[in-house]
Formats: sequence, C-alpha cells, structure tokens
Amino acid sequence: MAMDPGVIRILRPADGTLVGELAVTPIHDIPNRVARTRSVQAGWASLPAKDRERRLKALLDAIGERSQEIEDTIVAETGKPRAEAIMEVAAAADHLQYHLKNTAAFFRPEKVSLGWMVWKRGFVQREPLGVVGVISPWNYPFILSFTPVVTALFGGNGAVLKPSENTPYSGLLVEDLARDAGLPEGLVQVVIGRGDTGEALVRSGLDKIFFTGGPRTGRAVLAAAADSLTPAVLELGGKDPAIVLEDADLKRAARGIVWGAFLNAGQSCISVERVFVVEEVYDAFLRETLNAVRGVRAGSTSEVEVGPMTTKEQLRWVESQLEEAVNAGATIVMGGQRTDPASNVLQPTVLTEIPPDCSVLREESFGPVLPIVRVKDVEEAVERANELPYGLSASVWTRNKARGVSVAQRIRAGAVCVNDAVVHFGAPALPFGGVGESGFGRSHGLDGLREMTRTRSVLVDRLNLEREPWWFPYSRRTERLLRATVLFRLKGGVRGLFAAAMHMLTGKRR
Ligand code: NDP
Repeated sequence: MAMDPGVIRILRPADGTLVGELAVTPIHDIPNRVARTRSVQAGWASLPAKDRERRLKALLDAIGERSQEIEDTIVAETGKPRAEAIMEVAAAADHLQYHLKNTAAFFRPEKVSLGWMVWKRGFVQREPLGVVGVISPWNYPFILSFTPVVTALFGGNGAVLKPSENTPYSGLLVEDLARDAGLPEGLVQVVIGRGDTGEALVRSGLDKIFFTGGPRTGRAVLAAAADSLTPAVLELGGKDPAIVLEDADLKRAARGIVWGAFLNAGQSCISVERVFVVEEVYDAFLRETLNAVRGVRAGSTSEVEVGPMTTKEQLRWVESQLEEAVNAGATIVMGGQRTDPASNVLQPTVLTEIPPDCSVLREESFGPVLPIVRVKDVEEAVERANELPYGLSASVWTRNKARGVSVAQRIRAGAVCVNDAVVHFGAPALPFGGVGESGFGRSHGLDGLREMTRTRSVLVDRLNLEREPWWFPYSRRTERLLRATVLFRLKGGVRGLFAAAMHMLTGKRR
C-alpha cells in the first residue's frame, strides 16, 4: 500500500497495531504557526514573571487530571514499561515545581559593580527571547517535549514543538496541557511531521532552537540554523562510561549499572553504554552483573522490565553492532537474541572480550546492550572513558566518595554520578547537557532558564554632569586623564590612585 506523505501512522511497538493517524502540518503553514505564537507571546512576555508563574502553576493540576492519559500514550507509542512512563510524568511535575520556586528570583534585576565608574550604576535584566522551536525525539517523548517547552514559557517565550513522527501523540499532550491550564491560545503549538517538518521549523524565523536527537540530525539542524543565525541548543547522543573501582560495592554497582543500561530498553541518551572494571574485581563484578540481569524480564507484555525497542531500524542497528562485535571476537555472555524473531524485543545482552575498535564500544547503541571491559587500573579506566568524541554523562562506582568525586572530575562529560547512574536527569536543579559530540547548551536548572532568556545590560548615570571627561572635544587634558585611569587600572588600590594622581599633576608615567 502506498504511503500518504500527508499522514503519519503511529504503530504500537509492542504488537504493530495502530495507535492512530495524524495529518502532517503543511510545510508552507509552519511560518504562519510561528507568527501566530509570536503574536501571542508578546502579551505573555509583558507579564511580570510572578504572574506568568501563577498561570503556569495551573499546569500541575492539568498534569494531575491527565496523568493516566499521559502514561497510556507514552506506553502505546514507545512500548516502554508503565513504570518508566510514570517516571516521565514524575519528572514533569518535579520540573514544574523547581521553576515555580526559582523563576521569579531569576528574573530579578541583578546589580553589578561598574568598577571605577562610581558615578554610574549598572544592573542586568533577564528578558524573553521570543519564540523557541523545540524538536524532540521518540525515546522519552513526553518529558523531552514538555521540559523545554515549559522552560521556554517560564522564560516568557512562546514555543512551537515538533515531536518525533514515531511519538507525536505524546507531543500533542503538551499543547493539550497548556490549553487545560488556561494559557493563552497559541502560546504553545505542536506541528506534526517528519524530518522535513523539523527543518522547516528551524528555518521559520525562530529566536532559538532547542533540539534533542542524534548527532547526525544535530549537524543538519545547526547547518540550517546557521543560515538565519538562529542560536541553538543541541542535546545529542552519548556513549556513557561507567567506571567500577576495586573498592566498589559490587552488588550495588552491578544493579545500578544494569538498570542504567537496560532502562527504556537501553534507549536513553544517558544509558550506561560502556563499563570499565578494574581487573582486581572484574570477575566478581561480572558475576554480580549476570545475577542482576537474570532478574530482568524482557517481553511485550506489561509485566516486564525491558520492553520492545521503539523502532525496527533501531533494533536492526543494535543487532548489526552485536554481529560485528562477535565476528571480531567478542563474547555474548547473556542475551543477544530477540525474545521472538517477529518481535521488537531484544533480550538484555551482556558482552565481554570486545576488541576496542568495535562499533559497540565506539558508537551509540541505543539498545539493551551492556559491554563490559577489563582495565588495569583507574588510570586506564579514565583514559578509555575519555577516548570518544562523546561526553554526555558518566558514573563512577567506589565506596570512597571523595575518590569518586575526584575521578568524576577527570571524565569529560556534562554530568557524572558517583554510585548512581542516569538519575541526575531527574534532578531539575542540575543543569543537563553534553560536551563534544554530545552537544552544547544546557537544559534544567538555572542554566536551562538562561538558555531561554537573554540578558539586557542597563547602565544609568547618577550625576547628570554637563559632560563626561572623555567626550568631545579631546585635549591634552583628556589624554592625561585617560592615561591616569590606565595607571590606576594597571596598579590598582592605593598605589593605583597615587600613580594616577601623580600623572595628573606631573604628566609622569611612573
Ligand atoms: P533524530 O535525530 O533522528 O530525531 C530527533 C528529532 O529531529 C525528531 O523529531 C526528528 O523527526 C527530527 N528531525 C529529523 N530530521 C530533521 C531535520 N533535518 N531537521 C530538523 N529536525 C529533524 O533522533 P531520534 O528521534 O532517533 O532520537 C534518538 C537520539 O536522540 C539518540 O541519539 C539519543 O542519544 C538522542 N537523545 C539525546 C538526549 C539528550 O538530552 N542529550 C535525550 C534523548 C535522546 P522524525 O522523528 O519525525 O524523523
């Protein structure tokens, strides 16, 4: 049957049945959508931050009313276990609560010292950007749509969201919630479509783009954004390392790493994708890991920890990585097969003895695969952790917390957990984002709000003199005065004052 490009069909990964069909937003209409949001945003931006906050508080009730529907939609579109859909709802509530507590203070003008310009005062104001375009992926389709949109709103902006073609209903819920909360109609809009819809949104005259997705698409987004000099935040993929040191609590480390690797069938940007274990505890850690994986159920029913992968393409990619690794000499010590050849469910898979140039150790898998690598010591572990261009997050496992923090500081990543993994995403006060090929810019925390606002610097003269000393006309006296200020700035303090005064009196530079 020929596919109608004007329609998107959303299928359940669990059994291939139809979730629904949606009409694609016409590409030519996207600039109109952005213009509509812009016209509403002006009024929104003019409200004091406190008033915006009051109105955004209604989103809490809106989420409460729809929580069942949100869970059901996430489960239907992604195939993930319900517990993990609930985690998305919980993270949305936390995110809102964080901003409700912190945004008003963030918008307060900040006084700054103007140094030697003592007869003037300065302050920095935060102001909205305008319209933010949000492009989100399918793996956490609700929270990765909701969080950037809501942060944009707290920042005084409007938002136009393009969710993934695999999970558009989860994105549409964000628009529904905004409506339920009584926010101005059009302040949040969702456009439906595929990659070309995303590109059209990027090219539609936005004030910022907040993109979450893979590095290849991230490059395309940045190239399109460059044409109009639209600033962008890129939240891209990762290949997160976990380092297990000889003094780790191996049971906890194994359980935590197994959860971090197989949560959402491994389809998390911050999944544990490489484990480096110092050789002293390698065998014991592997034993504990296999014990932990034995308790992980995989399947398409609701009674599992690892559900189907969301798309067949992603499943085939992971299988191709496994095949390449095995051909190169790696050992699959557990899993490695689909639970049923027709399903999208890959058993949780543990790999060892992997040659270092295998793709499964170098490129994002985004599937339920846990490669475990033996290293000599912490030095080699840190070196291996840092060997890739990615730098999203990492974890260090040790009973010595101070040592854990000091090892964490040597890992090139936007975030590092000690004796935990993945959960930093759920702490709304912690800025989230990557370095290198994992992207740039931050969501969450005050840095997330900074991304959604710009600063306006204000300087006010206090004295209202007839003229400033450096205004026209220039004279010898102007030069002497300017030189005196240079001396003052170079030497500082009392010595600087003395040197400046001497120069004014004598013209000497020392
Ligand atoms: P993609 O990069 O394929 O897609 C992300 C979004 O971009 C989708 O909405 C997609 O639309 C859209 N898109 C596709 N082509 C273009 C284009 N040319 N211009 C603009 N938008 C476009 O990522 P996935 O959806 O496959 O998500 C998986 C990736 O996301 C992984 O690499 C993962 O690591 C990363 N990710 C990063 C996170 C982070 O915070 N750092 C968090 C979660 C995931 P469509 O789906 O309709 O094609």
